[in-house]
Amino acid sequence: MQKIIEIYDTTLRDGSQAEDISFSVDDKLRITEKLDELGIHYIEGGWPGSNPKDAEYFKKVKKLSLKNSVIAAFGSTHRPKIKVENDPNVKSLIASEAKIFTIFGKTWDFHVTEALKVSLEENLELIFNTITYLKKYAEKVFFDAEHFFDGYKDNSEYALKCLKTAEEAKADCIVLCDTNGGTLPAEVAKIVKDVTESINVPLGIHAHNDSDCAVANSIVAIINGAVQVQGTINGFGERCGNANLCSVIPNLQLKLGYRCIDDYKLKKLTEVSRFVYEIANLIPFKRQPFVGESAFAHKGGVHVSAVRKRPETYEHIRPELVGNRQRILVSDLAGKSNILKKAEEFNIPLEPNSLEVQAIVDAIKTLENEGYQFEGAEASLELLFRKTLGLKRKFFDLIGFRVIDEKRKGDEPTLSEATIMVKVGKNIEHTASTGNGPVNALDNALRKALERFYPELKRVRLKDYKVRVVNSGKGTASKVRVLIESGDDEDVWSTVGVSENIIEASWQAIVDGIEYKLCKEKIKKGEI
Ligand SMILES: [Zn+2]
Repeated sequence: MQKIIEIYDTTLRDGSQAEDISFSVDDKLRITEKLDELGIHYIEGGWPGSNPKDAEYFKKVKKLSLKNSVIAAFGSTHRPKIKVENDPNVKSLIASEAKIFTIFGKTWDFHVTEALKVSLEENLELIFNTITYLKKYAEKVFFDAEHFFDGYKDNSEYALKCLKTAEEAKADCIVLCDTNGGTLPAEVAKIVKDVTESINVPLGIHAHNDSDCAVANSIVAIINGAVQVQGTINGFGERCGNANLCSVIPNLQLKLGYRCIDDYKLKKLTEVSRFVYEIANLIPFKRQPFVGESAFAHKGGVHVSAVRKRPETYEHIRPELVGNRQRILVSDLAGKSNILKKAEEFNIPLEPNSLEVQAIVDAIKTLENEGYQFEGAEASLELLFRKTLGLKRKFFDLIGFRVIDEKRKGDEPTLSEATIMVKVGKNIEHTASTGNGPVNALDNALRKALERFYPELKRVRLKDYKVRVVNSGKGTASKVRVLIESGDDEDVWSTVGVSENIIEASWQAIVDGIEYKLCKEKIKKGEI
């Protein structure tokens, strides 16, 4: 039987302490639902004693019907010199009505006397009293042994005494924290092993990433007897972050044979990672192991031909296991094998030694010289393949468009309006539309003009819009590259446009986005 490892997510508490990250209560609830879908055992929702936002979260989270996850509330041992039942922090924990309380307490003698300014004996009482008291109000109480590894290296006898006290108070899990993130894997391995010899309560690991070892430290702690891992999605957390669960989980499950979440749920990992980036309003880290866009991307010609034949030549796991995918990057480095692999992905028949392959390579090279980049615009790339091979249909002709931006008063927003005339078959359509910017107005007008002929466009939305200066030396006369992400209920696709005029570049990307969708519909119906 596989050994079960409990996953404890603290994205909403430790993760939200990261620079640049701030979650609203709504954001936290959406992330909670996503983590529940992923099958995370425990979700630490926040520190109800620290701010009203977290208290509100605990009120609202009760209304979610979670299938897999149990919500935990975070807090500390009660303050010295007051009774546990009078401590406001302890009171708000109870008021949260969470089923799990996670209490952190000092285990490093230096912190006890210098930061908390109480005697070592008194600190033990704080630990004992808080856990015993809170046990009456919760299903489980976890004890986060703050600075445990530093404390153990300094005064192992006292650090262990703190854990013993938590054990006597009937803590359900004792979590060894590398709070400063400075401990290295070999030390973690040895210390966790030592602790298992004197403590019988299940152990957990909570590692910070200041030495870039948080994932490694979590893994060695598990190998040496811990049964719970605390970490965050994408490794969000204060300073350099926490142990990244997007790496910890697949490593434990796919390589070491532990059971963290169901295999079919593991396939949601990439989606969850990107969802949390999205909510945090951060650009996903491309090179992130397992879930990053580049994690299984191959560029060099030799790699590509090998990986096409046997993926394991350059891939440590099958990307599908974590919901990611292999990508063959087409760039001016591209050999013909990249093009063939891409054609296969697009379901476009292509003879290996045909002139068409060379024609596609040449077309990509020319466009890349002009500033196009297809690595983030696969839909435009597929259209380019189809165009070069004479497989692209024309869905409409542009007769003309006009975009007007108008600002009437300094403090009023700029108004944008676009008019457009297109020809579909023998019909001419002339429409106008407003938008919250010129590109939005143009996109709305074009879709409005075409919807009568292609009702499937009603479901298409512009999802993301990015502009990048291509040759930055020329200031406002530079070329810009526009990347647009469009989507409907089933799919998302990206397109690109390049021009010295931002509206023209956007137009190209918008048109590609629409033609791609129409082309896919035709393929679905077997008409192409
Ligand atoms: Zn932490």
